[in-house]
Amino acid sequence: MTSTATPVTLQFAAPRRPKPPRHLADLTAAERRAAVVELGGPAFRADQLSRHYFARLTDPADVDAMTDLPAGSRAALVADLLPTLLTEVSARTCDAGLTRKSLWRTFDGARLESVLMRYPDRATVCVSSQAGCGMGCPFCATGQAGLTRNLSTAEIVEQVVTAARTVRNGLLGGGADGGPGEPDDHGRLSNVVFMGMGEPLANYRAVTGALRRLTDPSPAGLGLSARSVTVSTVGLVPAIRRLATEGLPVTLAVSLHAPDDELRDRLVPVNTRWPVAEVLEAAWDYADVTGRRVSIEYAMIAGVNDRPDQAEQLGRRLAGQLAHVNLIPLNPTPGSEWTASTPADEREFVRRLRAHGVTTTVRDTRGREIAGACGQLAADPDAARPAVPGPGGPGPIVVPGPVAARRDGTAERAGD
Ligand code: SAH
Ligand code: SF4
Repeated sequence: MTSTATPVTLQFAAPRRPKPPRHLADLTAAERRAAVVELGGPAFRADQLSRHYFARLTDPADVDAMTDLPAGSRAALVADLLPTLLTEVSARTCDAGLTRKSLWRTFDGARLESVLMRYPDRATVCVSSQAGCGMGCPFCATGQAGLTRNLSTAEIVEQVVTAARTVRNGLLGGGADGGPGEPDDHGRLSNVVFMGMGEPLANYRAVTGALRRLTDPSPAGLGLSARSVTVSTVGLVPAIRRLATEGLPVTLAVSLHAPDDELRDRLVPVNTRWPVAEVLEAAWDYADVTGRRVSIEYAMIAGVNDRPDQAEQLGRRLAGQLAHVNLIPLNPTPGSEWTASTPADEREFVRRLRAHGVTTTVRDTRGREIAGACGQLAADPDAARPAVPGPGGPGPIVVPGPVAARRDGTAERAGD
């Protein structure tokens, strides 16, 4: 293994912290029934609660809407199984309302972000799997702040369920308000990408729990198709191999960023543990087992990883594999001296990869203006300051209502 890089301390184990309160989304359907029985209710109440949470997307704050639960025990059931896990500190929108970044505070004051994006054919939420990240990639704002803690399964699922509710309620731009007598059509959340804060495979148990809740058929889970869920990893080889055995054929994205070990050791410090060849071998085995095309993520950094010979080397390594390259123009992060490749260099890179028969797209830079693009999520203090303080001080911001969709067909954030 080569390493000329300045050693970076990789943090795999998350600091031990008090656990968030137990939530319905932490439990399997059988465990939910057992929990309700323990509370003195009949088991089928668990299914009613699941239907409210996952299928009807009822806001737990709106307890009175759950009229199928007995008035006398509603509040207690909700308090016990649907406790508030995430409080929205602020929400900011850009891209004419089609991108919405939320900053959340957890029960113990940790901060995390999620980003909801409307595309012409789908609505995607980018979720966080950890508060912070311990992998130290130097071009990533999240990596600079270190790891605060792992998120629980329910804290991850909550980001998705609230996003689904936001879309359903018409709070993301691009939906259609029906005319008189016509129903509104705000669409529905269709895709989830684990590309927010954190390294999902370093929080394996909670993340796989969340993947099950997202893909379990409604109303036990959200009923999303596995192919529309993407897990992006920095390349933790044993965890990629384990994920392949879970029977959860989600789309895998591997953040490669360099075609050789010398450069990848610098850009992605965990490469000193699992080098490029091992990461790619695990990725191809994942593709074999799941039948899913693996997405190779590659941030284009001017003068660092965007030379023609590097495109050739990458093309040779990926040729003939079930892979798709997603080039990401480097997003600016505080303190980083690196800049994005020029459009001409980017085009030449794409051309060379395609000449090797490797399908390649360039991802859009959704959310840049609100520091909500890839690698910019840092739960920054600016985002924590609400633009419109409520009467009682800081509170949720009311974001602008729906606007017309921009049908510009930009490339996707996720490799799907
Ligand atoms: N930890 C996981 C998932 C979160 S990062 C991972 O690294 O894959 C999501 C994606 O954003 C990764 O592909 C990551 O390499 C990329 N990224 C990080 N910082 C970036 C930046 N400044 N510009 C563009 N992409 C970036
Ligand atoms: Fe962590 Fe991914 Fe950022 Fe690397 S790129 S520091 S793994 S979030």
